[in-house]
Amino acid sequence: MSELTDLYAQVRACQKCDLSKGRTNAVPGEGPEHAEIMMIGEAPGFHEDQQGRPFVGASGKFLDELLAGINLRRDQIYICNVIKCRPPQNRDPQPDEMDVCRPYLDKQIELIQPKIIITISRFAMMRWFAEKKISEIHGKPRKFGNLVVLPMYHPAAALHQPSLRRVLEDDFKRVPEILKQLATLKEQAEEKKPEPPQQLSMF
Ligand code: URA
Repeated sequence: MSELTDLYAQVRACQKCDLSKGRTNAVPGEGPEHAEIMMIGEAPGFHEDQQGRPFVGASGKFLDELLAGINLRRDQIYICNVIKCRPPQNRDPQPDEMDVCRPYLDKQIELIQPKIIITISRFAMMRWFAEKKISEIHGKPRKFGNLVVLPMYHPAAALHQPSLRRVLEDDFKRVPEILKQLATLKEQAEEKKPEPPQQLSMF
């Protein structure tokens, strides 16, 4: 068993908060163990709870379309949520629920070591951009050590507010650009070029 599948087993058996009592299935997350891109949503909804998989409902379908728009398939990225069990009536996750669930997400980030984390929920964004507004920072990547975090609107927001569809599509287009820049930076570091690379300005 890999450490990641071991973690999934822990999540599925977790009873650290009351959300475990109402769940059909816990939703640990899924994707390649060494994905370059990790997406973090908010919490499982009805369909996710039924199937034990993240983003399988309407927002998941839209997410697949957004990924296809940048020539990516869902099975190339890692997808998970801030909390792993569905809150009643899809209410917001509560601070105590996020606190007890946090070690699972920490471990996922540590094991997968993504190059980019795309936060697609307010609660995921708060971890790196406390106090910031999504309307101001969406689509703007920021570097935190070796990690780039790119905040985006939740796909469900665009289903309710159609003007956000274009915004999300444009923000998704940043992803290949960022990966390209990171590859260039890595090459430059390996060649030990003395000058700091100018591309860093992107972050
Ligand atoms: N919305 C989320 O934030 N996560 C899911 O898994 C599904 C919908």
